Amino acid sequence: MTYQPGSEQQQHGPLEGLEQWEEFVKVRYPEEGAPVEAAAKLPEAFRDYRAEARPSVKEFYRLNHANQSLDFVLAKKREYLPLRKRRMSIWTAMEFLNTLVDDSDPDTDLSQIEHLLQTAEAIRRDGHPRWFILTGLIHDLGKILCLFGEPQWAVVGDTFPVGCAYSDRVVFPEYFASNPDAAVAEYQSPCGIYSETCGLEQVHLSWGHDEYLYQVVKHYLPEEALYMVRYHSFYAAHKEAAYGHLMSEHDREMFHWVRGFNPYDLYSKGEDRPDVPALTPFYRELIDEFFPAELAW
Ligand code: FE
Ligand code: FE
Repeated sequence: MTYQPGSEQQQHGPLEGLEQWEEFVKVRYPEEGAPVEAAAKLPEAFRDYRAEARPSVKEFYRLNHANQSLDFVLAKKREYLPLRKRRMSIWTAMEFLNTLVDDSDPDTDLSQIEHLLQTAEAIRRDGHPRWFILTGLIHDLGKILCLFGEPQWAVVGDTFPVGCAYSDRVVFPEYFASNPDAAVAEYQSPCGIYSETCGLEQVHLSWGHDEYLYQVVKHYLPEEALYMVRYHSFYAAHKEAAYGHLMSEHDREMFHWVRGFNPYDLYSKGEDRPDVPALTPFYRELIDEFFPAELAW
């Protein structure tokens, strides 16, 4: 599908908008010390995220877990990672992402640019380095995959390794039963096609906006930032400590940064709506400090 300026971009999938997945993750992983609703007052281990998830979110995970096979991931990498879809600046990619039309309420829900600015501003307020602020600004630009016609389940959702046994710490693990990989004997052991502590660089995760953006920006940001971009949706690892047997010592050290980034992504929403025109000069300068005028996407 090619992008037509001004045309209605429909999202392919059961979610009303990509935010519905993030809202679910926030319920699954509530902020520590935050005021909680009555249903969330039970100890986390006893909370049933299945009961709390909306039907559209369940259907989204069913599709994600059924279709994200090793073959699918390799096919998407062959399709996208030559980065020959288009050439554009970071700012143009932000504006492009903002054309994503979803069914959520435009009066109460933030636009994609607003989510990016809100994340970046929360990082900036805490006095973090400029590369960290910039990472907040760009971390979800890989969602432009939706505008290239990818279904929601191939753009967002918690990522997980393919080609090895599924962890039951991935949400809705029961949906993996209908993934074609569940019938491949070689993939059923904890390491599957990988070897113990081989490092995540060797491991194929389910396809989505994290890996795509990592490949676009990998020459321009410090390694800590690249880990945040590449693994921010790998909740089973950074929130649940699953898949440690595939991680290297270096991955473990770098995941400190992935965990440090997560609160800004999940919990900066709902704060004041950012003033986009007022913030634009600061962020344009920040982008120019790290990125060339055009990148390959
Ligand atoms: Fe994201
Ligand atoms: Fe995000």
